[in-house]
Amino acid sequence: MEIETPHFKENARAALADEQLQRALAGLPGGLVAQRAAARARLPEFDTLRDIGRDLRNETLELLDTYLEIYEKNATAAGAHVHWAQTAEEARAIIVELCRAEGARLVTKGKSMISEEIGLNDALEEAGMEVVETDLGEYILQIRGETPSHIIAPAIHLTQEQVERDFRRVHRDLPEARNLVEPADLVGEARKVLRQKFLAADVGITGANFLIAETGSSVIVTNEGNGDLTQSLARVHIVITSIDKVLATREDLATILRLLARSATGQECTTYATLSTGPRRPGDVDGPEAYHVVLLDNGRAELLGTKFREVLRCIRCGACMNHCPVYSAVGGHSYGWVYPGPIGSVLTPALIGIEKGASLPNASTFCGRCEAVCPMRIPLPKLMRYWREADFEAGQPPLTQRTALAAWAALAKRPRLYHMMTRFAAAGLGAFGHRRGRFGWLPLTGGWTRHRDLAAPQGRTFQQLWTETQRGVAR
Ligand code: SF4
Repeated sequence: MEIETPHFKENARAALADEQLQRALAGLPGGLVAQRAAARARLPEFDTLRDIGRDLRNETLELLDTYLEIYEKNATAAGAHVHWAQTAEEARAIIVELCRAEGARLVTKGKSMISEEIGLNDALEEAGMEVVETDLGEYILQIRGETPSHIIAPAIHLTQEQVERDFRRVHRDLPEARNLVEPADLVGEARKVLRQKFLAADVGITGANFLIAETGSSVIVTNEGNGDLTQSLARVHIVITSIDKVLATREDLATILRLLARSATGQECTTYATLSTGPRRPGDVDGPEAYHVVLLDNGRAELLGTKFREVLRCIRCGACMNHCPVYSAVGGHSYGWVYPGPIGSVLTPALIGIEKGASLPNASTFCGRCEAVCPMRIPLPKLMRYWREADFEAGQPPLTQRTALAAWAALAKRPRLYHMMTRFAAAGLGAFGHRRGRFGWLPLTGGWTRHRDLAAPQGRTFQQLWTETQRGVAR
């Protein structure tokens, strides 16, 4: 899969100029953001629940190897085949081989960010299989040849009119004059097309939102029910997930699900939360004949011993990106890889290396909204700052930026000189800019003034005002 994160700035510029994308993104504040706020308001203990959820995830991650072993033991006892993959290549190879061994020609897939991470569809198609995404958003993206732009609403960058055009272009065997004006018409059409695929599939592949150690179960959480049809109608069910998804007990799951649904879509609980434990048993009315779980590491174990370990608590709710002013302006594709928004700005450099992902921790205003809404209380701005430091220490930023930062650091270590210089700068800029009250251009500030004006300082620095207030002589 091509990794294009170094082009964040160019991607963002194109996204800002894309009127259709801007129309689609305009729905975020009134949609997912408002729904979360309403759900949070209905649950007074929401913040206490966040503390509990954070602690539960920390406890499991602290003993991750133990919980994974318990999970494997219990899953195997229930008839599952558990496969361990250290890298994306290994995971792809295992899944392709499993599908080949089953003689699979048609593979249905539920939504899975890990499958995006390892580029699974391309690998299966190269091996001669037809792959069909069954989540509505993912299906739309598949027929457009695009990747997801959001982790829970993959097609959020599209408008309804675009989807209608795509359905008319692809579903050519349906009557030309059919009505596709209402969202329900589009959903109905996708349902009809996908139903044939569910029934004909040889292998169904899903992700897992969580794994439960005490029962050896995998858990998927959906609103469409497509994941359930994917995993129960095909002969073989393959789960692809990462090692950080394990929870200790079903009780822990119940707590985390309360946070996930509210943070993601503002629901009290998601429509379907399905636990799968092994293949179909004698007497079961449905379920696959074989059940495989592929557990991917891909750099996560290494994160455990570092200051980035907190990112592993993530439950992929998407709240951080919904509330991020940068994501809301440029959408998910600007980030150039699988995980967009603040979580992507922390996780992506960890998975692909800071050399390739350096632009992402810089794609933030550091306003702190992501941390404020994160149900797992992940300190995303702090972790992005760590990446910026790593980037700086690796000598990657341009010379001008490094020189400016070195000069600022030298000044900041000398408070008297720093205060004198800032007083001088504020007074000078205040005098220059007092007539218009703002600057449309200033040397070295092109990144800011290209898109907006810079407010002229009022003439005195914060420290001056603060000192005067303390002395009781504020004017
Ligand atoms: S970082 Fe937090 S808010 Fe963002 S997706 Fe993960 S759990 Fe949700």
